[in-house]
Amino acid sequence: MLPFHKTSKMRKRTRRSHHAVVGVQVNRCPKCSQSKLPHRMCANCGYVNKSLSLVVNEDQE
Ligand SMILES: [Zn+2]
Repeated sequence: MLPFHKTSKMRKRTRRSHHAVVGVQVNRCPKCSQSKLPHRMCANCGYVNKSLSLVVNEDQE
């Protein structure tokens, strides 16, 4: 069995126009301006959001 409508080259390419691989998005910490991942704690200063900041223990290894 074949599909009733063959997907045209343009339709296939238009669909795949959203498939590009993008790199990891990195934001700046507003507190220490180090790079941090979005929705993650800042690894440098422990900043989460303006009402929450965690203590980063630098003694632990
Ligand atoms: Zn920070």
